[in-house]
Amino acid sequence: MLNITVWNENRHEQNNPKVRDIYPNGIHGAIAGFLQDEGLKTRTATLDEEAHGLSEQVLQETDVLIWWGHLAHDEVDDLIVENIKKRVLEGMGLIVLHSGHHSKIFRSLMGTTCDLKWREADETERVWVVDPSHPIVEGIGEYIELEKEEMYGEHFDIPAPDQLVFLSWFEGGEVFRSGCTYQRGQGKIFYFRPGHETYPTYHQPDVQRIIQNAVQWVAPIERPAPVYGNAQPIEHIKVKQQD
Ligand code: ZN
Repeated sequence: MLNITVWNENRHEQNNPKVRDIYPNGIHGAIAGFLQDEGLKTRTATLDEEAHGLSEQVLQETDVLIWWGHLAHDEVDDLIVENIKKRVLEGMGLIVLHSGHHSKIFRSLMGTTCDLKWREADETERVWVVDPSHPIVEGIGEYIELEKEEMYGEHFDIPAPDQLVFLSWFEGGEVFRSGCTYQRGQGKIFYFRPGHETYPTYHQPDVQRIIQNAVQWVAPIERPAPVYGNAQPIEHIKVKQQD
């Protein structure tokens, strides 16, 4: 049974009544809710909790961490970011949502600025499936349409994704690599773009399905950890004649 932790900075929900109306239990509560409805063991953690709700024990018990942040990336403790990164390299799955592109953990794992263009103009986003055999798109049609979303545009300063799963088109003309997978160490990472806080994006069944699929895809696999360093030969090595 997978253990999922949904982390949210949870600041917009406190500062903006519009966001509170859309997500009365917070964005973390909404995401945890539709994962729990699928029978997944899910807990939440937020920035203002002790150790941001991500003690070493919580991280040790977490198979898949989902991350939503925006206003307060700088307030996330560097030591906790290091602990998360260590767990990802050990095999913990990581799903980074929307403005999490600028989180310390995502930037650290990518090694680039993760900068992009953006605009808030209530425009339509069409999220196209560009990898139709990928497990993350199971149950999803040719594209999903979000009537109103924030625009994120290229260039998105990320390393070339290992797999590009979704490509978004926006009403204003921009495009964006909105579903990207990476494998780092033993861990799998999925970045998924939609989810601006003033739109009900995480209430959309297609978006929920994609996140549910992604949880299964990034989940760790069962096998012994790789062994590194100086190694004894497996086969007998013949002594060579000196010339
Ligand atoms: Zn946003």
